[in-house]
Amino acid sequence: MKEYEHKQLEEALRIERDNLKSIFEAMQDGVYIVNQNYDIQYVNQVLIKDFGVYNDKKCYEYFHGKTEACSWCKISDVFAGKTVRWEWYSSKNQRTYDLIDTPLKNADGSISKLEIFRDITEHKQVEDALKEQHQYLQSIVDGVDNPIMVIKKDYSVELMNKALSETMQDKYIADPRHPKCYEVSHFQSIPCNGSNHLCPLKTIMDTKKPSIVIHNHQKSNGTKHFIELSATPLFDNEQNCIGIIESAKDITSRLAVQDKLQQQKVNLHYQAHHDALTGLPNRVLFNDRLEQAIEKSKRNGQKLALFFIDLDYFKEINDSFGHDIGDKILVVITQRLIDIIRSEDSIARLGGDEFTITMEELTQGQDASLLAHKILEAIEKPVTINDNLLYVSCSIGISLYPDDGSSAIDLLKFSDAAMYKAKDEGRNNYQYYSAEMTELAFERVVMETNLRTALNNEEFVIYYQPQVNGNTNKLIGLEALVRWQHPSMGLVSPAKFIPLAEATGLIIELDQIVMKKAMKQMAVWYSQGLNPGRLALNLAIKQLQQKDFANILEDIIKETGCKPEWIELEVTEGQIMTNPEAGIKVLNKISNLGVELAIDDFGTGYSSLSYLKKFPINKLKIDQSFIRELPNDDEDVAITKAVIALAQSLKLDIIAEGVEKKEQKDFLVNNGCENIQGYFYSRPIPVDEMKIYLKKR
Ligand code: C2E
Ligand code: CA
Ligand code: CA
Repeated sequence: MKEYEHKQLEEALRIERDNLKSIFEAMQDGVYIVNQNYDIQYVNQVLIKDFGVYNDKKCYEYFHGKTEACSWCKISDVFAGKTVRWEWYSSKNQRTYDLIDTPLKNADGSISKLEIFRDITEHKQVEDALKEQHQYLQSIVDGVDNPIMVIKKDYSVELMNKALSETMQDKYIADPRHPKCYEVSHFQSIPCNGSNHLCPLKTIMDTKKPSIVIHNHQKSNGTKHFIELSATPLFDNEQNCIGIIESAKDITSRLAVQDKLQQQKVNLHYQAHHDALTGLPNRVLFNDRLEQAIEKSKRNGQKLALFFIDLDYFKEINDSFGHDIGDKILVVITQRLIDIIRSEDSIARLGGDEFTITMEELTQGQDASLLAHKILEAIEKPVTINDNLLYVSCSIGISLYPDDGSSAIDLLKFSDAAMYKAKDEGRNNYQYYSAEMTELAFERVVMETNLRTALNNEEFVIYYQPQVNGNTNKLIGLEALVRWQHPSMGLVSPAKFIPLAEATGLIIELDQIVMKKAMKQMAVWYSQGLNPGRLALNLAIKQLQQKDFANILEDIIKETGCKPEWIELEVTEGQIMTNPEAGIKVLNKISNLGVELAIDDFGTGYSSLSYLKKFPINKLKIDQSFIRELPNDDEDVAITKAVIALAQSLKLDIIAEGVEKKEQKDFLVNNGCENIQGYFYSRPIPVDEMKIYLKKR
């Protein structure tokens, strides 16, 4: 390069540097230039003002008051061509600077460092204040036990507390600078949805209103947790919703406590309405249910039966075996009762040994008897306790809605009363509140349980009622009257089962059994030297109408050792007159055997006198309905007298039955009817008693 050119270049550089310096002088920031020997080559006015005169000072002397280069000095990096930025606090003037160091090439090829001082003291103070505020805020939220986070619209978490950050797992966080709420709290890579994990952010962005949702979480150890998220919207200055503040609370234990309380409430309610021993509804619940059942029956126009069950002699069981055993029996019996009732029936224990059963949807009152039988049978089965067999029975009273009453109180009162009736009837049986109902039910049950089993089991016994000559007081005969010794109902009157036996045809077998038994008995008595007179047997017309009845009768007479002259057959007027032509033949055959014939219940049917004349009959039996009001009722007096006159004119014997009082007997005897049967002399009595009776005569 030529001298001249060189000078020109230097001049240009100088101008450029002067320009640069005048720019530096105009700047607000401090600027200085230093060479590789730390010699300050230039300092602008700002620095001169702040740090004083720099004449021939090294930078470390000037800025730091040191005698050698600072250990932290990055000057070598700058001389290596790098730009370095750092922050420096000057203790000299207590200000903070943002320093930018850049390499500056000199004309001679050497490199100097240009450092720009930007005073950021105020900015720093604001920043520090902000930081402090943030830390303050953070320490507040950190102080809250439950996880809290501020979530922006894009699911990124702007703020979270320690409770949350501690549970956060880094591996699920895609961008640590902007963790997403679903990454932080659900360890998943997509936002929550579905009913199990409703997203409060979505909800609030729609509604702009606070929201509470419950999440169902399963922890890694498998335990289930319920988390209640309560979230409120976060607005900017323009009231735009920019996100939410969400706090989470593990409410598992609270729910558990609530559950427990609820369970306790249920338990208490249960205890208040149930009997502790058997678990059955108690009186309180029973009343409630009965009232409901009545309402329902009212609406549906149906019947309802209320059973009152009381164990027989339970006090004695308790007294002799102890209450523990008594309790065990009650539990066993409860189970048996539960087993036999239908699902729509309800059972309760009123206390002690008293139970009730409400049976709904009955079509007829009689139908309740089926359950009554089942109950009797179920309770009768022995109870095994400690290898001992204990026998229990019960008495049952039944009241019916609406027949007996329409209120719960009445039905209970009436079923209780009926139960006492059952106790009076000898226990181990059932009674309806209304006597007619008991009868109807009985017929129904007979149908169901079948008379035949009774026949097979020989449940029929014969009672005998004396027939006496009212004048001489001599015994002239006995009427055999059958009774059914029913296993649960006790002694049942024939009026209750004879009509049914007739309807089913079983009367034939039944009457033959009675005939055989009674005839055998006659033979025994006669062989014992007793004199029972004549045996009157009641025969159903069906029996007589059998083709070979006369032969059957003959066979029985032979078989039992009875004599024909000891026997008299009674046929009711009503029955014989339904088909008198057919009657004549068989009556003749019977008569030919030497057996006598009597017309029973005479006066109640419509006997044709011409037939009466044709029948080979020996006796008329005046029906007891005419005897009852003797001698006061004029009509009965007239009829009785007329029947006696008829018998006398037809040359027939005559007997009156149902004679209970002396004046009845006297009237009859005085008017020509000497033969008397009735309670006045004796009720029908069983065979043993009859033997004693006969011996006394
Ligand atoms: P029935 O043949 O007219 O028998 C007389 C009924 O009057 C008997 O009733 C008897 O107990 C009752 N009685 C006797 N004395 C008096 C009295 O002083 N006052 C009152 N109020 N009643 C008295 P029971 O034993 O209940 O028999 C009812 C009916 O059953 C009998 O009426 C008879 O028709 C029928 N019956 C009884 N045993 C048999 C039988 O073995 N075979 C058939 N086919 N029917 C029988
Ligand atoms: Ca009779
Ligand atoms: Ca009679």
